[in-house]
Amino acid sequence: MAASEAVPYAKTGGLADVAGVLPGELARLGHEVTLVLPRYRSFHTRSHSLRIVGTIPVRTAEGLIDATLEEDLLPAGPGSRPVRVLAVRHDPYFDREGLYQGREGDYPDNLARFVFFSRAIIEVLEFLVRTGRQLTQVVHLHDWQTALCAMYLKTEAGDRGELQKMKTLLTLHNVGYQGLFPGDQFPTTGLPASLFTPAGLEFYGSVNLLKGGILFSDAVSTVSPTYAKEIMTPAYGFGLEGVLAGRKDGVFGITNGIDVDSWNPETDQYLPARYSGGDLSGKLVCKRELQRELGLPNSEVPLIGAIGRLTSQKGFDLLAEVIPELMALGVQLVILGTGDRDLEERFREAQARYPRQIGVAIGFDEGRAHRVEAGADMLVMPSRYEPCGLSQLYSLRYGTVPIVRKTGGLADTVVPYKPRTVQEGKATGFHFDELSADSLLSTILLAVKVYEDSEAWDSLRKAGMAVDSSWARAAKEYAAVFRRLVARR
Ligand code: ADP
Repeated sequence: MAASEAVPYAKTGGLADVAGVLPGELARLGHEVTLVLPRYRSFHTRSHSLRIVGTIPVRTAEGLIDATLEEDLLPAGPGSRPVRVLAVRHDPYFDREGLYQGREGDYPDNLARFVFFSRAIIEVLEFLVRTGRQLTQVVHLHDWQTALCAMYLKTEAGDRGELQKMKTLLTLHNVGYQGLFPGDQFPTTGLPASLFTPAGLEFYGSVNLLKGGILFSDAVSTVSPTYAKEIMTPAYGFGLEGVLAGRKDGVFGITNGIDVDSWNPETDQYLPARYSGGDLSGKLVCKRELQRELGLPNSEVPLIGAIGRLTSQKGFDLLAEVIPELMALGVQLVILGTGDRDLEERFREAQARYPRQIGVAIGFDEGRAHRVEAGADMLVMPSRYEPCGLSQLYSLRYGTVPIVRKTGGLADTVVPYKPRTVQEGKATGFHFDELSADSLLSTILLAVKVYEDSEAWDSLRKAGMAVDSSWARAAKEYAAVFRRLVARR
């Protein structure tokens, strides 16, 4: 498993949760897993246990560079082999404040950094063989940062026996991020010029790393079945819809799980009180404390939470648009996020204007994310597109009813409130389809109406809390894909 971020080492988004948790789940199924990561500065959390195990030569445009490998063993639970973590250390590239960007935006040498990492993955595969640690069968890559590894394996491993047989799966976590670089930087990839064509890495004159990965991987997946279908259409494919639809074996979706140990309302150490589906009284304590934490008066009115990157993908601009109407309704709104300065400013202004109804926390704060999930009555996710989404899965488990746009993983994981689904006790939340402030608002209005009917609300919460979002299910689906790949000639 190779990724540019994974919990507990480095995280900027959902990818880190997947890459950090899936290896352990696969280990629990009996697989031997090595996780390869860049050794960032932020590794401090577990750096005490890292030990140097060797060096690997990495080819770059500037010649060979020796990278240090630091190893950690991540426990996978009783009776299971731990996950071997190999961190590729090359401080000039990775000992930086951010993973992909600094104060001035994206690092200008990101192409060189992730070309380096993608090549390093191959050297790690060889290192594992050479040192008798592991003979890898499948290399599971994630997103543009590791996509090139599939190209290097296919085009350069010809004379490297063991590497030649390895199969690759590329998982797309968000097709909106493709690793696009100016065409004149192509030589940095070290690939032959014959690959810089529309049938290769070229994308309207630019270098597109994700495209290369899609073309050269043995299989391509994404993180929910609906998103897998959506990205083959112009509305969601960000220009790659043709390349994706052109894959003979298609693109399939495996819905992400969640880390059910860290996200468990019965044991969550971030919460002021704990609770379960059988006894929700602790949830009320969480609501009161959340109101206090964000300077809101204690009140019984519905509290709507929103967590996430403040970007247009997440549709928070729609939420900002309907604030006056929500305020007139008397509800409270809690927003935790960071991102677009514009949106941050809009939410801050709204808070100043409605201090008794809006609480805004700008920043990334894991503990607070848990407290919002627990303390809110509803969680809103008005995403324009959402490959899978994790926050709505946490909400379900925390008895917080999700209000989501019907797209990607949100459509797959939230069962919408309808007469039939309610009658069958299956409804877990609310969907809205049309991407508009009006449509969002009318769905929140419906949710608030249902909230007042405590029996109906209880049924929604109970159904949500009973959903199995564990990684165990997803890991089994991935393992089946790996077996199919290995069996393929
Ligand atoms: P994406 O990966 O597109 O950002 P996901 O919903 O898949 O969206 O995952 C987002 C993850 O990051 C969730 O675990 C969510 O709780 C967390 N998160 C997002 N913003 C914040 C924040 N401001 N503070 C704490 N956690 C956050």
